[in-house]
Amino acid sequence: MQNTRKKLVGVLALQGGFEAHQRALDSAGADTLQVRTVEDLNRVEALVIPGGESTTMLKLLGYMNLLEPLRSFAGTKPVFGTCAGAILLATEVTCPSQNSLDVIDMTIERNGYGRQIDSRVAQIDFPGGPMEAVFIRAPIIRRTGPDVTVLAEYQGTPVLIEQGRHLAATFHPELTGDSRVHALFLSKL
Ligand code: GLN
Repeated sequence: MQNTRKKLVGVLALQGGFEAHQRALDSAGADTLQVRTVEDLNRVEALVIPGGESTTMLKLLGYMNLLEPLRSFAGTKPVFGTCAGAILLATEVTCPSQNSLDVIDMTIERNGYGRQIDSRVAQIDFPGGPMEAVFIRAPIIRRTGPDVTVLAEYQGTPVLIEQGRHLAATFHPELTGDSRVHALFLSKL
């Protein structure tokens, strides 16, 4: 008999756009759980870290004693970071530099396109067809390590990358009603 149980995917819900990710994961066919504690983290099979404000999220992760648990979670389970979430996953953050989870081998520059006014909607090439990408005070990925595969670029720099089971996007795939990136993430579970 086919196993029809849906995967339970956590969405880090300390700050930022976690509800839109829950909707996108739901359309891609997963159950979701808002993650705020180590107990929540222990229940899920994968985790999405949403966009928001990476410095604030980092502080809240510290208060909630989630930094080390998240690092060890990423050692065995898939994590997908968007925008501020991608910043948290990087091994190196610039402009200014800050602590991170050291999950994906990349150097990422915060607010790489400039200030708030530089938010934009652009079309990017996604494997299998074009995709609308919403950038909001987005970072720019300036370097990727040898284990990273670039899945999509915009203006000559990577905007969607994968490293093994992990995924990072500098844009917001949860905001366009196109759940292909979330479906790709679920294929890693
Ligand atoms: N500029 C934010 C940061 O540095 C990220 C913006 C976003 O997540 N939309 O954390």
